Amino acid sequence: MRALSRALRIGVISLTALLAACGSSGPFKFDDSYSAQGQNSRVRYLVLHYTAGDHATSLKVLTQRDVSAHYLVSDERRPTVYRLVPEERRAWHAGVGSWYGFTDLNTGSIGIEIVNMGRLPDGRWAPYTRSQIEALKVLIKDLAQRHGVTPRNIIGHSDAAPQRKLDPGPHFPWKELAQAGIGRWYNEAQARALQAQYATRPLPSAAQTQALLRKAGYDTPDSGVFDKATQNVIAAFQMHYRPARYDGLLDAETAAILQSLN
Ligand SMILES: [Zn+2]
Repeated sequence: MRALSRALRIGVISLTALLAACGSSGPFKFDDSYSAQGQNSRVRYLVLHYTAGDHATSLKVLTQRDVSAHYLVSDERRPTVYRLVPEERRAWHAGVGSWYGFTDLNTGSIGIEIVNMGRLPDGRWAPYTRSQIEALKVLIKDLAQRHGVTPRNIIGHSDAAPQRKLDPGPHFPWKELAQAGIGRWYNEAQARALQAQYATRPLPSAAQTQALLRKAGYDTPDSGVFDKATQNVIAAFQMHYRPARYDGLLDAETAAILQSLN
């Protein structure tokens, strides 16, 4: 029974196997030979993180504490992709956050942690390895296809929680992934044209910027001023789409990109 109770706890056993294990004289017959056409995956989002720790520490933290992720990508020369939580189950990686108004991200997402030290003590950011990025392209593409995740719902932790989180950080190559057909990107030609126009006309107001950020999925204050919370959202947006500068201040390039999304 120990194996059965463990299987039940981690949710890998079917009701059929349960009934078989408990005998065939129960109060109903069970039949799973039909399958409904009307069904889809519960997974709508892919959330990317760095672990801010080395390989061994990351594995330990994500398996032995109250944080977890479905996948962990190591930083070995040929990365190991650990599956720590089955895709059907919740992992505890997103915490408080919101994307297009959806707040229960742990329930609706698959979490991918990447071994990377994040922000170093000297203020620089640890790079991702080439092989991690190549591994991620394959992993994310497969997950997005199997679960029907739309490009705009492939996000970083900082996109969903811009007031609390910086991962996967400014070194995460969102543009390269977009070129590989992964995630959302903006219309670059349109953005260049818009940016040029801002030489002779004012940038969007705080209220307009907040509305644009909300339209892009970000949980953004409605204050009508560029307060600290709004700057945090702008910084998260910049880290994703214009990582050369992520100071949270609206400039012509940021405004142009924001308007050229989708
Ligand atoms: Zn995270």
